[in-house]
Amino acid sequence: MKQSTKAHASKPGQMTGVIIAAHGRHYLAEVNGERVQCVTRGKKTNVAVGDIVKLTATSADQAVIDEITERKTLLYRSDQYKSKLLAANVSQLFIVVATEPGYTDDLVSRATVAAEAAGIEIHLILNKVDVTESLERTRERLKMYSKLGYPVHEVSAKGNPEHAVATLQPLLKGNSSILIGQSGMGKSSLINLLVPGADIAVREISAALDTGKHTTTFTRLYSMPDLGPDTSIIDSPGFQEFGLYHLSEGMLERAFRDFKPYLGGCKYYNCRHLIEPQCPVLDAVKAGEIAKLRHELYGQLLHESAQTLY
Ligand code: GDP
Ligand code: ZN
Repeated sequence: MKQSTKAHASKPGQMTGVIIAAHGRHYLAEVNGERVQCVTRGKKTNVAVGDIVKLTATSADQAVIDEITERKTLLYRSDQYKSKLLAANVSQLFIVVATEPGYTDDLVSRATVAAEAAGIEIHLILNKVDVTESLERTRERLKMYSKLGYPVHEVSAKGNPEHAVATLQPLLKGNSSILIGQSGMGKSSLINLLVPGADIAVREISAALDTGKHTTTFTRLYSMPDLGPDTSIIDSPGFQEFGLYHLSEGMLERAFRDFKPYLGGCKYYNCRHLIEPQCPVLDAVKAGEIAKLRHELYGQLLHESAQTLY
């Protein structure tokens, strides 16, 4: 009899799989390397890519989702989407930026806040280091993040693909990662280097889920069995889509790693670090110890979350 530790805890006839793509109520799970189409019971859409689920087969390649296994982490989409869950069980976030075209610090910082709040490790990838004209300037800009302790890995997906793979593979090994980036940064080029056959898989997944022409607008997970059984990478088009509205004020200030050394010393216990007197966070902004950009984003996020209360 075949033994599987994962299947062991399941009811008879139940399988365990990981959700690799979602489209409305329709999901695609991977069970022992095979893709299985599945649906939720009723009208629920509370399943995310990366979820480990228990399934019961309803036909040869179809199943119904009985249960979602407890999540280690969860990332949200912004509120404009019906499905508010972006990805589950991710342990590290890779933000792809490039020497050109320019990236937006506001978006990069929002992503760091979402990941910090979810307890996910953060890495930046600086792609296109072969574009030397803008290399030094970009390196200088990225110091803001390396100062916060987020590693910046330099690669060139097109100029030196072997080096890019050699740099990133060891970081991916044994982890569930998610890759995001503004359009044009080279995220697809990197995914195609790291996951041979990814472009074919996207077409197959899209056909199985009947997503129509929008082949690149859904989040998908690729297992990377060559790097070990627990290695996977999620390709998400959801850069602008990070949902931060679920964060309370307390969670928000703690999601800014640069604020941490200064929290707790404010004159007012409910200080929001915006205009209050005797606020060490504001002092640190004035002294240049906290980047102005980061403090402005914090203020903006406070404002946005307050607006959603009404
Ligand atoms: P995505 O929108 O982030 O998925 O980016 P793509 O992977 O589609 O790449 C956008 C453009 O940048 C394409 O024209 C790529 O050929 C180019 N590109 C990707 N990586 C590199 C690189 O390392 N160096 C240079 N010079 N161009 C690159
Ligand atoms: Zn304060």
